[in-house]
Formats: sequence, C-alpha cells, structure tokens
Amino acid sequence: MTTKTSVHRIFNFSAGPAILPLSVVEEAQRDLVSLPGVGLSVLEISHRSKPFERILQEATADIRALAGIPDDYHVLFLQGGASLQFAMVPMNLIPPGGEADYIVTGTWSQKAVKEAARVGTVHVAASTQSENFTRIPRPDEIRLSGRGAYVHATSNNTIYGTEWREIPNVGDRPLVVDASSNIFSGPLDVARHALIYAGAQKNLGPAGVTLVIIRDDIARRSPSSIPTMLSYATHADNNSLYNTPPAFAIYVVGLVAKWLRREGGLEAIGRRNERKASQLYAEIDRTDFYRGHAQPESRSLMNVTFRLPSEALEKTFVADATAEGLDGLKGHRSVGGIRASIYNAFPEEGVDALAAFMREFERSHG
Ligand SMILES: *Cc1c(COP(=O)(O)O)cnc(C)c1O
Repeated sequence: MTTKTSVHRIFNFSAGPAILPLSVVEEAQRDLVSLPGVGLSVLEISHRSKPFERILQEATADIRALAGIPDDYHVLFLQGGASLQFAMVPMNLIPPGGEADYIVTGTWSQKAVKEAARVGTVHVAASTQSENFTRIPRPDEIRLSGRGAYVHATSNNTIYGTEWREIPNVGDRPLVVDASSNIFSGPLDVARHALIYAGAQKNLGPAGVTLVIIRDDIARRSPSSIPTMLSYATHADNNSLYNTPPAFAIYVVGLVAKWLRREGGLEAIGRRNERKASQLYAEIDRTDFYRGHAQPESRSLMNVTFRLPSEALEKTFVADATAEGLDGLKGHRSVGGIRASIYNAFPEEGVDALAAFMREFERSHG
C-alpha cells in the first residue's frame, strides 16, 4: 500500500542504509512532532515512559507475530550494528578454550571469523572464497568440527548477491545466523535457529538498531566475566532497556513490522520478492551481454549482482541509470559491476523500470 505524496522520490537501489516503505516514512513524518495521544515527539520522550513502553511492546509483538517466534525466544533491540554481533556471539557463546564452526560465504562472514578468532578457535566448516564467493556451499561440502559451540552462517551475502535457499542442516548444533540483508524477506523457521541477528538498516528500518532473536537457553550462556553491556543475558533480563535504547530506530522498525503484516506477512512478501528478483535475473539470462556474478542456484532475492562486457560500459550504465532516477546501482568494489538491492520495501515499479532500462541499454550499447 503506498500513499500519494507530493514529494518526488527516485528509485533507491542502495545496499544499505536502504529504502523504507513510503507509507512508513510518511507516518513517521506525520507523527514526528507529536505522537497521537502523547503530544510529544518520539525523539524526546523518556525510554521509561508509558508511551515508549507501548512502542517497544508493540514492535516486539508485531515482530513475534510476523515471524511466528516461539515463546522461548527473546526479541532484543541492541546497538553496535551487526558488526558488534560478530564479537558478542563468540564472547557469549564460546566457552574458555572452546571452538566454533563458521561457514564462510563472503566478506561479512570473514569479518565474523576475525572477531571469533580473538575469543576462541575458529573451525572453517566450509568456504567458497576460492571461487570469489559466487555460490553457497553444497550440503556435502560442510564439515563441522564436532566440538563447535555453535555454527555461524551468513544467510544473504549482500556484496556478492548470494543467498542460502535452505538454511544449513547442522543437526543438534546451535545455529547462529547473520541475516542482516534478508531478514523477514520470506518465510522463516525461527525454531531451527539458536540466534538470528540483523542490523536494521537493510531490510528492517533505519540505521542504529540491531535486531537479535535469541533462544532463552542460549542467552543464559553469557559468562559473568564479560562486560555487562556485551552480555545477552543483560539485555534479555532487561527487555532491551538496560540502558537507553535507540528509541526512534525501534519506533520505525515497529512501523515496518506493522507494514509487513498489512502486506500479508512473510509468505506474501516472499512471493513478491521472488517475482521481483526473477524479473531481473531473466534480463541477465536473456543474452550474453549481462553476466550474473552469483551462480544460478545461489542467487539472492535481495541483491542482484551482474557485470557488463567492460568496466567502461559499467560506468556508463551507472551514470545513465542515475540520470533516469535509478540510484545506487554501483556494485561493491570487491565484486565490481552492478548491484541492484531490491529489499522488501523496494517497489515492483522500480524493478520494471530497471528491467526496461537494461533492455534499452543493451539495445543501444550491445
Ligand atoms: C551490512 C552487513 C553487515 C554490517 O552491518 P553493520 O550494521 O554496519 O555492522 C553485516 N552482515 C551483513 C550480512 C551485512 O549485509
């Protein structure tokens, strides 16, 4: 559902911070000066006030309903981005002298490994680095150490445009997933995870808050030796209110969760995301002019990455697209080429516009 606006907006293909639903941005704008029934801005109220308590409680309830989160999981709103989770996960979950398994599918997985290696022993259970991360490992390539406290995976590789079709089968090992760039992009079986984390600024809301969904027994593993603020137990025990939380960002995440529910929930959004991505992949596959970075069976529904016949053409493509109001298409420097990020809030009309632009660009430059 989009509301009419008099403001001109271009199509935003940015990888993050990324597009938000227009209706959410407009609601936040409308209520910014005075929240209905409160008479104050959400930017100005105490995080211990009744109105903020309600905002936090509603955001949590909507997220729980949206993803069918079982009762024995906590929904936490933390700070420090997904990058702090790279450190908090091992600090809380690797016991002294212990080990953890990491499946390495891109730059973000590598950064997670680097932090875990400061705390314990990292066993790389699989990696597709030798193939420049063009794919997700096959199940038979994953070799768990047998002693790992958990298995860590990155569900969508934002930079490379690859995504797990099915989360890895890790048996009875706790599965920890960095879902920063595809959380709530389709159906999610929370019960198969021990911990899911996501920086909000890609598919969930504005920058400044990180969503953590953690099973209670996992949150109880935090050793008392680590700093209070870095302990999952602290935040679980205090309902994300141990210290001042990022109130405005939580408020907007709450609006996005409500928007997702109105749009029909995760099944419906998943079908829409399939439709959007397959339209762009069809353009890539139609001829040899465009070459996808990701191997077909590992293609991401969120970040569509591709190359053109030359870097010069890629530059022209980005410049011409920008001139037509298709913004943020330049690929990450480690992959090059083009990256179209088409998160939940990215409209189907924008995908139509890019597909038409790709066809026209090929006709005039191919
Ligand atoms: C963007 C991103 C991160 C880093 O997130 P920050 O919130 O900036 O720390 C981590 N993992 C993935 C998969 C990402 O896409």
